[in-house]
Amino acid sequence: MLSYQFCHQVTTATITAQDLAFDRHHLWHPYTSLRNPLPTYPVVAAAGCELELADGRKLIDGMSSWWCAIHGYNVPELNAAAKVQLDHMSHVMFGGITHPPAVALARRLVEITPGALQRVFLADSGSVSVEVAMKMAIQYQYARGERGRNKFLTFRGGYHGDTTGPMSVCDPVNGMHVLFAGFLPTHHFVDRPPAGQHTPLDKSYLRSLDELFTKHAHESAAFICEPGVQGAGGMHFYNLSYLDHVRRLCDEHGLLLIYDEIATGFGRTGALFVSEIAATPDILTLGKALTGGYLTLAATLCTDHVAETIGNSDVPNLMHGPTFMGNPLACSVAVASINLLFSRDWRAQVENIGQLLDRYLAPAAALAMVTDVRVLGAIGVIETEQPVDQAVIQAFFVDEGVWIRPFGKLIYLMPPFVITDGQLRQLCAVVIEACSVPKNFSAA
Ligand code: PMP
Repeated sequence: MLSYQFCHQVTTATITAQDLAFDRHHLWHPYTSLRNPLPTYPVVAAAGCELELADGRKLIDGMSSWWCAIHGYNVPELNAAAKVQLDHMSHVMFGGITHPPAVALARRLVEITPGALQRVFLADSGSVSVEVAMKMAIQYQYARGERGRNKFLTFRGGYHGDTTGPMSVCDPVNGMHVLFAGFLPTHHFVDRPPAGQHTPLDKSYLRSLDELFTKHAHESAAFICEPGVQGAGGMHFYNLSYLDHVRRLCDEHGLLLIYDEIATGFGRTGALFVSEIAATPDILTLGKALTGGYLTLAATLCTDHVAETIGNSDVPNLMHGPTFMGNPLACSVAVASINLLFSRDWRAQVENIGQLLDRYLAPAAALAMVTDVRVLGAIGVIETEQPVDQAVIQAFFVDEGVWIRPFGKLIYLMPPFVITDGQLRQLCAVVIEACSVPKNFSAA
């Protein structure tokens, strides 16, 4: 069945040289220039853990389309959910209307996230869910009569999305705050926690957190961070116990704690959500793997206390309401994706991927261009001494039959949970090959 669908799509989907020229001239891709864009590879189908290029080559997927496709591609259960919903209704406005997929999804999210998180806002992308989380925190403080609390505290090295609010709490250097100076609101940063999920707590670092709160808590609404793993800001893993300290400081100083689990959610780190093994947040954002990578959808959850505090104020409405809020098609696929996740032993899958990444990437540690190899859950990271030349290394990976998209000094893997041992071995072997002497893909 699956291979039939795959073949059918390949024979019907084509892309011409003119299409590619049009793309190159007219179409912006993420973080690219239209003047001299990096090459893009035409993908015409995807199934299981493989992407199929227009010329028929198949690439083993090491990226899950940026954390999303945890079940792989062209997944029968998700296809079926989308088709059934399509025949009922693909979209209806959420203002003054509700529908079964939104209710089912909210019920599921309340069930599977930590018990304190009871209220759900369905947003249309990860960045928007972070915007909503930030507005929720500001409205919460307003409701408490704390009108001057409109700043956020956060770690350096974070990434929370590309719209204005999230960008303002992204790492100031990676997030290009200088470029957007005067446009972006300014917030207060502290160094990110020291590297290593098991590294003992550093007392002087804890003091720097204390100082941040002492100085800026009075004007701040919340502390926002990616718990345990900073993703796009550097694939940085840190000890979750730092979040116990942050939680205490938030409580002492009247700030909310926001976790952005858009990347880490739905099992990627080995826990269903980091929130279930770290100090509980007041607000949680989810996205990416929420729909198994099928459609754009995100969610902002909060506690009863946050929702009720806002609701009891003179501005009781949460002031956000996007056009595609609660899109039924996306909600249906999200419910199917969560059900599929739970129908499988995803913990065993993630643990197995972690063990294999450990084993297969270990030889990289001895290579001259490699400064660090680290694995957490189903995330494997190789850090190189110099930034890699993205276009050159990407071409090498594609020639070797794998899809891996490094950035800066990071070559990382976060494959679909359904990847086979053989596919994972192949992905890792190609990464090791890329990092081996005499090949050198350094941009420097
Ligand atoms: N937060 C985190 C932790 C992310 O990794 C991302 C996406 N890379 C976002 C927010 C933004 O999500 P989106 O791209 O869906 O707007």
